[in-house]
Amino acid sequence: MITLLAKYAAKLTATGLCAPGDVLLAALDDELGWSQVVESSDPRRGLMEEIFAGMSISALLLARPAGVYQAVMAELARQALADGSRSITPGDCETRTFLHDLPVVDSLHAVVIIQALRQRKGCVILHEGEAFVAAFGSVSPEQAYVTFSSMCFASFVAYFADHLRTLRAGAMTDQRRAAFARSTALLQDDRSDRPDLLPGPFEDEDAAREAMIQAGRSTVEYGLVDSYFGNISYRLGDTILISQTGSSLDELGACIDPCRMDGSSCAGLTASSEYSAHKAVYEAELAQNGARAILHGHPRFSVILSLDCPRLDCPKLGECHRACDTARAVVDATCGMAVPIVPGEVGTGPFGLCNTLPQALTGTSGEKRGAIVYGHGLFTLGAVDFRDAFASLMDVEHFCRAEYFRRVGELGPR
Ligand SMILES: [Zn+2]
Repeated sequence: MITLLAKYAAKLTATGLCAPGDVLLAALDDELGWSQVVESSDPRRGLMEEIFAGMSISALLLARPAGVYQAVMAELARQALADGSRSITPGDCETRTFLHDLPVVDSLHAVVIIQALRQRKGCVILHEGEAFVAAFGSVSPEQAYVTFSSMCFASFVAYFADHLRTLRAGAMTDQRRAAFARSTALLQDDRSDRPDLLPGPFEDEDAAREAMIQAGRSTVEYGLVDSYFGNISYRLGDTILISQTGSSLDELGACIDPCRMDGSSCAGLTASSEYSAHKAVYEAELAQNGARAILHGHPRFSVILSLDCPRLDCPKLGECHRACDTARAVVDATCGMAVPIVPGEVGTGPFGLCNTLPQALTGTSGEKRGAIVYGHGLFTLGAVDFRDAFASLMDVEHFCRAEYFRRVGELGPR
């Protein structure tokens, strides 16, 4: 158990969400185990022990986010306490379905934190101007870790999307502008080198699995996603190999299911919740370009840009994620890249992305083939392997980041 706790804590520092030593993860076996040696004089220890005593949970994480995550979370928490909402409400799909909203409390006291954790999987604590996060797992430490990384992603998206929205509404204040300058100064530079991914086409399951595992891991290693939500698939004849629902992009190992396209066999219960969308894409591709690989993640600026729309009086406002009927795209005129932005809910309902995504993706051409699902994430295609799918994911995300700051520059100062 201790090894597992240390592993998750190390993953959070490796991806830059926390500085080493600023994340404590504890889990209850016979007694409390800790991710690192923690002195009894460390106030975090007493606080976490009190939370364990007051709740029926199996794991608890207490962390101080680092860098830009610290800056945006502290600013969002400050705003939430100032306006009395006491919660951060991001507009992205991951938060809508997984976290709902992020409660904000203003003290590092067990009673206050327990109250928030009874409502949600995690909460933001603003203490002496700094943001901390408490998140729990009811059955495993992995849950607390996933919640924390998802909260970092949600806060990042909420903050940058809100800044652009506020600029469009002409409501920017000097205080917000100063906070934005501090936050953007902390953004890491994009990585420009490419990973050395396996060349396809892959002719058997083992080779395809290895390529999927490698591409998933690279997506996380290259900082293209904060949370590990996403999925990946490869078509091998009439079989689709797809990552399991709830699996982490960087640890696909045994979490890949084979599904027959004719429906005769599929690990239907464990295959990704977006299997139907992947299948529909491959069916459409078979008749057209024949792409064999799909990579899907939630890169920050792709999601943020999909949330940005100049139509402030649109009658569909509030329904954008399911019913937007405006033709939208991210367009890089210099290289002819056009990435459509479509609505679509997770799952197979009438507004499901399995109805919007296949058409959007199959309608793309050229080297960079991808589509963004509103407030959700980016799907890219690979002709025979993940090299082009990965390059597209990376290039679209980097372009979206540049385009975001171009729009901010165009609108500001307001
Ligand atoms: Zn997704």
